Amino acid sequence: MARYTGASCRQCRRENLKLFLKGDRCYSDKCSFERRAYAPGQHGQARFRKVSDYAVQLREKQKVKRIYGMLEGQFRRYFEMAEAARGVTGETLLVFLERRLDNTLFRLGFANSRTQARQIVRHSHVLVNGRKVNIPSYLVSVGDVITLKEKSKKNQAINESLDAVARRGVPSWLELDRDKLQGSIKSMPERQEITMPIQEQLIVELYSK
Ligand code: SF4
Repeated sequence: MARYTGASCRQCRRENLKLFLKGDRCYSDKCSFERRAYAPGQHGQARFRKVSDYAVQLREKQKVKRIYGMLEGQFRRYFEMAEAARGVTGETLLVFLERRLDNTLFRLGFANSRTQARQIVRHSHVLVNGRKVNIPSYLVSVGDVITLKEKSKKNQAINESLDAVARRGVPSWLELDRDKLQGSIKSMPERQEITMPIQEQLIVELYSK
């Protein structure tokens, strides 16, 4: 499957926002966006740019895709699921993205980025309700309990991430038992708990053209 192989930091600079794609580095003074907060490329520092409505909507969609590490086809499928579900489409879309297993692991602090979380899932370290799940797009539900395989509980990278999670905090829809290395889903994520500056209505407008 095709995937983005370019520099993650370019994506932050392109979206003019810290997307927190690289874990610890994002919180340090090595963050590229902190040093060069302008778009990459030859015209990145151009002063005047006329921006159409379409361009604004497109950028918003790209931003959310990049935050969650999605490709266009996958992202579109989430949008279609959100459209078919009850509720406000934009909010439902974000809730679906939040419920992904890789995102949930990241939110719980088992990984310091969604990319790392995806790798942890793919490498079969994770159990959901006692069963191995190695599909990053698995959607968690209320009552699910996430743990690690016995062998993986000593994994240094995971333990370091868990020690650092206080920096971000665990959202209220999740509960982390640090000693047991166990997370549980207390409720469905709420829109207001997604604190990144996202205008999901622009994505709905883009896809509704
Ligand atoms: Fe973005 Fe900074 Fe993290 Fe790079 S280090 S991915 S620029 S937040």
